[in-house]
Amino acid sequence: MERQEVAQLHADVDDFVAAWCPPAPAVGEREHFAHLVEFQRSLHAAGLAVVAWPHGLGGRGLGPAEAAYVARALGEAGTPELANFVGIEVLAPAMLKFGEPERLAAWLPSMADASQIWCQMFSEPDAGSDLAALGCRAERDGEGWRLTGQKIWSTWGHFADRALVLARTGTVASRHRGITAFVVDMADPGIEARPLRTMTGVAEFAEVFLDGVRVPDADVVGEVGKGWDVTLHILGSERGPYAVRRASVIRAEVNRALAVARAGGASEDARQAVLDAVVARFLLDCRLDAVVEGLERGETPGAEAALTKLLLTGADQAAFAASVELMGVGGQAWQGLMPEPIAGYLYSRSSSIYGGTSQIQHNIIAERLLGLPRLDA
Ligand SMILES: Cc1cc2nc3c(=O)[nH]c(=O)nc-3n(C[C@H](O)[C@H](O)[C@H](O)COP(=O)(O)OP(=O)(O)OC[C@H]3O[C@@H](n4cnc5c(N)ncnc54)[C@H](O)[C@@H]3O)c2cc1C
Repeated sequence: MERQEVAQLHADVDDFVAAWCPPAPAVGEREHFAHLVEFQRSLHAAGLAVVAWPHGLGGRGLGPAEAAYVARALGEAGTPELANFVGIEVLAPAMLKFGEPERLAAWLPSMADASQIWCQMFSEPDAGSDLAALGCRAERDGEGWRLTGQKIWSTWGHFADRALVLARTGTVASRHRGITAFVVDMADPGIEARPLRTMTGVAEFAEVFLDGVRVPDADVVGEVGKGWDVTLHILGSERGPYAVRRASVIRAEVNRALAVARAGGASEDARQAVLDAVVARFLLDCRLDAVVEGLERGETPGAEAALTKLLLTGADQAAFAASVELMGVGGQAWQGLMPEPIAGYLYSRSSSIYGGTSQIQHNIIAERLLGLPRLDA
C-alpha cells in the first residue's frame, strides 16, 4: 500500500472524527434509521464508508488493515453503525467474490452511499441454526424465477430496498446442495415486510412474506444450486470481519467503564465485572489482530471464525454488564426512553444468537477445528 494513500486515509479519518457531532436523540426508529442513513452518507462523502472496495465501486482500493483502522477509529469516537452495515460488512464481501461485475456496478455504489438499503433474508421460522432446512422456494418462470415463502429476523428489512435471499431451487432432501442466492427488489408487489419490536424497544427486524416474487436470471448471485458457497462466505464475514467493527464499540464501552471504576466508589461486584470485561476485550483484540492479518493475506474466514464469534460475544456481554453493574440500582429502572448502556446491555444478549448461536460455534470448533466426532454420529 502506498504510504501517501495511508497517510491521506488517516488524515481523512481524523478530520471526520473531529467534525462529527452526534445528532439529537431520535424519537422512534424511523427517525433513528434516518440518522443512520445520514451518518453513512456523510461518511461516504468523506471517502470512508467502503475503503477496501475497488475504486470503480465507490471504494479507495485499500486493504483490510486500512478498513480495520477506520472501523476502530469510528467505533472509539462513538459514531453509530452504518445504516447498511449488513450490506457492507456481511453481504458485500461474498457479492464481490461471487457476483457478476456488471451487476456489482448496479448494486454496490448505491449500497455504499446508502441511497439503497440492503437486508439479509436467510433465517426462516423453521430454519435458523439449521439453515440447510430452509423452505422458501424458487420456481422457474421464463427467463427468471418466482420466490415464495417466509423469512424472519431480517435486520432493517422493513426499510430495505434490496435483499439477498436464500431460496430452494432443489428438492428439500437436497439440503444445502439445492439452495440458490438471489437479489430481490423489496418494491416487488409480492413482498410484505412486517416490523418486529425487540426488548430494546426498537423494531429493528422484519418478518418478510414472499408471494411469487419475480427475480430475473441476472440477479442470481453465484451459480444456481451453489448458494451454500455464498452462504458460508457470508457467515464467515459475519463471524470475522464484522467483529472488527463491533469490537470498536466494545472497546469504547470498556474504556468508559474503566474510567468510572478508576474514579473510585465502585462496588466489589462492579470492580470484578470491569476486570472481566478488560480481560475479555484483551482476548478479542489479540484474536482480531490475527483475523486482520489473515484477511491481508487474502484468506477467506473459515471454521476458525467460530472462535472470533465466541470471543466477540464474551467481550460484548462483559462490557455492557460491567457498565450496568457500575450504575447500581440506577441500572435496574429508568423513566422515559431506555438509556445507554442499558439498551447496549440488552442488545448484547443477542450477540450469542446472531450470525450463528454460541452453541453452533461450539459445535463448529468441536467438529471442524478439533476433529471430535459428531454427538449424533
Ligand atoms: C440481532 C440479530 C440480528 C439478526 N439479523 C438477521 C438478518 O439480518 N437476517 C437473517 O436471516 N437472520 C438474522 N438473525 C437471525 C439469526 O441468524 C438466527 O436467530 C440464528 O441463526 C438462530 O436461529 P433461530 O433463531 O432459528 O434459533 P434455533 O436455530 O431455533 O435455535 C434455538 C436454540 O437451539 C440451539 N440449537 C439449535 N441447533 C443446535 C445444535 N445443532 N446443537 C446445539 N444447540 C442447537 C440454539 O443454539 C438455540 O439456543 C438475526 C438474529 C439476531 C439476534
